[in-house]
Amino acid sequence: MGGVAMGGKTIQVISGPCSVETPEQMVAAAKMVKNAGCRLMRGGAFKPRTNPYSFQGHGIDGLTMLEQAARPNELPIVTELLDVRHLEHFLSTGVDLIQIGTRNMQNFELLKEVGRTKTPVLLKRGMCATIKEWLNAAEYIAAHGNSNIILCERGVRSFESAYRNMLDITAIPVLKRETHLPVIIDPSHAGGCASLVPALSKAAIAAGADGLIIESHHQPEQAWCDAEQALSPQSLAQLMQELALIAKSVNRDI
Ligand code: PEP
Ligand code: MN
Repeated sequence: MGGVAMGGKTIQVISGPCSVETPEQMVAAAKMVKNAGCRLMRGGAFKPRTNPYSFQGHGIDGLTMLEQAARPNELPIVTELLDVRHLEHFLSTGVDLIQIGTRNMQNFELLKEVGRTKTPVLLKRGMCATIKEWLNAAEYIAAHGNSNIILCERGVRSFESAYRNMLDITAIPVLKRETHLPVIIDPSHAGGCASLVPALSKAAIAAGADGLIIESHHQPEQAWCDAEQALSPQSLAQLMQELALIAKSVNRDI
């Protein structure tokens, strides 16, 4: 993706805000992501919100803000596609990694369409999906011609209410056994709380994950979406330092 490989010895960290808010926020976000040493930038322009009255994202304008902030910093961009009608725009904007979110993991028509492109796809696990269902979803993309797929575990629904979702660490070695695809972890939507993100990130790398996607914000308390789980610039930079030690202990770098 824009010269960044996922799945090799180097662990890749994608970071940025949950949603694209303003051009100024995105410029600050790109600086934060770059300074921390992350190599790809995320930002949601189309947001799948549980409540229809919550901020739904700036759409196409958001995509422009993401792109304009990321490009000067040479950060490939990662953003969620909700609707096939926006795919052409994603392709013409040059989105480097198309995210398919948990709510669309089994949106088969969407999977077929991204399968007809060559753009890498970040396929998140459905919140109630088994690994077999998830791999079948990946197969939809591959069967339509696109084998540039990254799997992302982001926690599953469980009986537990002390955190947002239950991170399935076991999925990492299982996927490593069952597929050749890169596997990354989203500790932010799993824990749902910034203070849980470091431990989950470290566990993921120790268990063999190829990367992480971490939500961050230059002013977490002001974030329009998922404020509780956003890391501050300082926390993101510190976490990257700590992750370097874990990476080294499993013979990887970051
Ligand atoms: C996101 O990454 O902003 C997101 C909505 O994630 P998920 O699909 O895992 O809930
Ligand atoms: Mn989010």
